[in-house]
Amino acid sequence: MPRITLPDGTVKEFAAPVTAAEVAASIGAGLAKAAVGAKVDGELRDLSTVLDRDCALAIVTPKKREGGADADALFLIRHSTAHVMAEAIQRLFPHVKLVYGPPLETGFYYDISFEGGKAISTDDFPAIEAEMARIVAENRPFTRYELPAAKGMEKLRAEGSKFKVDNAERAQEAGSTTLSWYATGAPGTDWEDLCRGPHVPATGKIGAFKVTSLASSYWKGDEKLDRLTRVYGTAFATKEELAAHLTQLDEAKKRDHRVLGKQLRLFHIDEMVGQGLILWTPNGSIVRQELQNFISEELRKQGYTQVFTPHIGKLDLYRTSGHFPYYRESQYPPVIEHDQLASLAKEGCTCGELANRLEKGEIDGYLLKPMNCPHHIRIFASSPHSYRDMPVRLSEFGTVYRWEQSGEIGGMTRVRGFTQDDAHLFCREDQVADELLGCLSLVKLIFGTLGMNDYRVRVGLRDPDSAKYVGDPKNWDKAEEACRTAARTLGVPFSEEPGEAAFYGPKIDFVVKDVIGRSWQLGTVQVDYNLPVRFDLSYIGADNQHHRPVMIHRAPFGSMERFVGCLIEHFAGAFPLWLAPEQVRVLPISEKSADYARELHAALKAAGLRASLDESNDRIQGKIKDASDMKVPYCAVVGPRDAEGRKVSVRAFGTEANLGEIGFDAFVDGLVREYRTRGAETVKATMGK
Ligand SMILES: [Zn+2]
Ligand SMILES: [Zn+2]
Repeated sequence: MPRITLPDGTVKEFAAPVTAAEVAASIGAGLAKAAVGAKVDGELRDLSTVLDRDCALAIVTPKKREGGADADALFLIRHSTAHVMAEAIQRLFPHVKLVYGPPLETGFYYDISFEGGKAISTDDFPAIEAEMARIVAENRPFTRYELPAAKGMEKLRAEGSKFKVDNAERAQEAGSTTLSWYATGAPGTDWEDLCRGPHVPATGKIGAFKVTSLASSYWKGDEKLDRLTRVYGTAFATKEELAAHLTQLDEAKKRDHRVLGKQLRLFHIDEMVGQGLILWTPNGSIVRQELQNFISEELRKQGYTQVFTPHIGKLDLYRTSGHFPYYRESQYPPVIEHDQLASLAKEGCTCGELANRLEKGEIDGYLLKPMNCPHHIRIFASSPHSYRDMPVRLSEFGTVYRWEQSGEIGGMTRVRGFTQDDAHLFCREDQVADELLGCLSLVKLIFGTLGMNDYRVRVGLRDPDSAKYVGDPKNWDKAEEACRTAARTLGVPFSEEPGEAAFYGPKIDFVVKDVIGRSWQLGTVQVDYNLPVRFDLSYIGADNQHHRPVMIHRAPFGSMERFVGCLIEHFAGAFPLWLAPEQVRVLPISEKSADYARELHAALKAAGLRASLDESNDRIQGKIKDASDMKVPYCAVVGPRDAEGRKVSVRAFGTEANLGEIGFDAFVDGLVREYRTRGAETVKATMGK
């Protein structure tokens, strides 16, 4: 008599064992039709699973109730499509042997061995997809059957695929006493594959699919073993979702900051300089400097003061802060002075001893700074502070160095040296809430100006069951509440994540979604009860006593490298005027308008704009294309008629047609206004387009 508890809490009782599909049907015909699988006590299963005892059951359908695609449904659909693709490939290329075909986050793959036979190429994709479409149209059921392990192994050995024999052996090592197959149709007659499942009930549930790419791989990832071909594909419940996904992939490729960074000459990574070390070329430096100017202006308005600190500090500083030796793995090795090295060499000190003595503090040296906080702390500690001076807000675009494994680095997003938009706030306990609000309002302003309005925050709180946290629990309560309140005032979605706080304080993280829907984890605002104690910081209170300040670390955009990398992709390299390395290019139509073009160019430069002049002998169409390739926001096309009337024909990047004509001075003034207002007022708008 199974009693089945549904997600809304209702309980259904059945007189005899039922399948998940039957339960779905008993709830409604619509649900039964949409169902692709079931979750039984939290485990994803086939819809045909027999429920013979009490359990919790959720019917899996492609659409989530709150909107969007259901991840479990996609998993089932993709894994099922992998089977369909494998069958199609085997029908077209009977000599291939199947190895392994798991679903992935955005699709699936199947590793295939061609064993000297003809390998497939992307030219074969249409034929494979046509075959798959036939299998889907036949709407054949996925039928599971099981054999005891010994009998199953016998069957696999008779079939002669070492790959499947190996898969089965590993399943048994993992504790399976039976082996299961899924036939696409009827066992014994239709195509089948050794598989744990689960699957959608029938091939007709696969809404839309595509074979996407090929790669080479090795059996078990081992170069010494068989060379395999990995065939990638993806599948969705509907054609619309597949189309949206393919468009996004295409867009992502076009926006890749590593590709655009080269094309637009924004940054360079040089083997001679070192992996993961970004060289900001002149164009990228302009983007960074404009952003830094913007952030600095806002910080000044918020009462921050600017500091500069060196790139290294004594090991003792980091012993006090706790950064050394605890985070040794993610730091460059210490730098030791010549004299000390020489005397150590004379003593015959080995490398092992050296490391040991460095850790113990018997040898001094320097560290490339992994964090800016210790330097800022020493600035705060260098003068006495009264409660009236608080908070003290020290900001610096501070460069730090972290050792990343070489496999992990690439482009601007994983690097070994980067510049944080860093600041440290030293405040009284009663000021924490306001300071957090200030940090978040800055983030809101900057994201708003950049048109990144789709972002969310994560509030990292204590794990209620852990005792690892430093500081007074009452202060923690207040700080956590302040984080929540600050997040709420942003008016964007936020999630509370218990257990995600650092041992020294709660934090707020920012995750921004770019225009094509990908998430970028940026920076953080973090309350700290620990470092003020380690460095014995204090201020003099109204009671004339020493009090401990609270620290807030904040680098809301993370690093300039990561943030600019994200912006390159967000804007697809077409920066708004205020950030664009080249803001306007003057294009004379012919020699006849060359003098006028030079005059315009000079006026634009004198107004402080980053203007250039194309005096080449190219035809005007060619000049326009060159400017467009570099994604220059505005082109000023000038011919003899423009010169006569002291006008400019304006083209804006990304707009097919000419914007029309505008007077010489109005154009220069309009661009200056667009630059100064960071795009709040545009030339385009004044021209009515
Ligand atoms: Zn399978
Ligand atoms: Zn810090």
